[in-house]
Amino acid sequence: MTATPTPGAWQLARRADRLNPSTIREILKITERPGIISLAGGLPSADTFPVAAMREATARVLRDQPREALQYAASEGYAPLREWVAGELATQGLACDASQVLITTGSQQGLDLVGKVLIDPGSTVAVESPTYLGALQAFAPYEPEFFAVEGDDDGPLPQSLDAACAGRDKPRFVYLLPNFQNPTGRCVSAERRLALVDRAAALGLPIVEDNPYGDLWFDTPPPPPLSARAGVGVGVCDGGVDGGVGGAVYLGSFSKVLAPGLRLGYLVAPKAIYPKLLQAKQAADLHTPGFNQRVVYEVIKNGFLTQHVPTIRARYKLQRDAMSAALTQHMQRLVAGGCRWQVPVGGMFFWLTLPPHIDAAALLPRAVEAGMAYVPGSAFFPHGGHANTLRLSFVTASPQQIDTAVAALAQALASA
Ligand code: PMP
Repeated sequence: MTATPTPGAWQLARRADRLNPSTIREILKITERPGIISLAGGLPSADTFPVAAMREATARVLRDQPREALQYAASEGYAPLREWVAGELATQGLACDASQVLITTGSQQGLDLVGKVLIDPGSTVAVESPTYLGALQAFAPYEPEFFAVEGDDDGPLPQSLDAACAGRDKPRFVYLLPNFQNPTGRCVSAERRLALVDRAAALGLPIVEDNPYGDLWFDTPPPPPLSARAGVGVGVCDGGVDGGVGGAVYLGSFSKVLAPGLRLGYLVAPKAIYPKLLQAKQAADLHTPGFNQRVVYEVIKNGFLTQHVPTIRARYKLQRDAMSAALTQHMQRLVAGGCRWQVPVGGMFFWLTLPPHIDAAALLPRAVEAGMAYVPGSAFFPHGGHANTLRLSFVTASPQQIDTAVAALAQALASA
């Protein structure tokens, strides 16, 4: 008699405990119901995707370089695209060499690679509070302790970096989003940038700067990147990263200026850690799809973005204005009760602080019933809490829909 095979007893790795479903993706499932105006997603508007330019570039790549485009390729990325990135960053004041550019499968992969190379279990990582949820998710499996950097409307507080470094275990790095941050929309002032970089340098605290939204400014471009002052050139890494002094890793993306489905981002790293990031990249997926890299290079090589990005800015600015007007109209009377927001000067998001007794997660079903959805803010905080906050995206709904959705939110709030 043969024994009935038993299913394998899978034992999950410890790090799997730290992998959790994204609150946002869970909410997006609810909001796919017809009739709901969702201000929850972090998606760019599909109306901004340059379909015609992509179609033509794709045809050209398949006509002129099909064998190279469809073959395995270098882990560092497509050389002309790396050159393009270095040239583009130079115009923003960030001097780097193309040899320091690593093309990644979205900047999300850049966050994972940084985590893999720099975080040990139990080591500290300093993050803004709130910060990009996807970064918390990318870093968490490497089992860091998060230090929550305090901030105000102007940006993270430099003295909070001192507090981060006061403990026994200096953070491996501080993760900062100076431009139109996800989730708050906040843009860090020029003075604060200088103060932060100088404080970090004095403390020997490396900076990981994430900048997917910097091109989406509405009136004036943001101040130069933190990495421009911190430098991405050399960096020190004596044996382990503990000896690293200053310096920055810079992360960028084509998701918000072209299309996220391309999964195309990049990082720029000091020479001291670039080889390790490259090896991690190789181990993860060998290389970012070469076909996508060549198509994107075909699209952008002759200055396409200098015409295309202003059309995105103009569109998002109108939507930002619509949301600002809708908030003023429908929510102003809640300000006395503690409701507050700032009007973002770029990016894709408004951040709302509700009266202290209101729990945005508990309110969400009522808001959905009223016809709209948002993301409760708690998930963006490294240690949770702050239940009375929420994020609204203004880029995927029309001005009319934005007004309707904000009115619905106000109605849900009034009933709470
Ligand atoms: N960083 C931030 C702050 C983001 O908001 C996002 C996308 N929502 C990413 C990184 C990842 O972008 P991608 O992988 O598409 O480049």
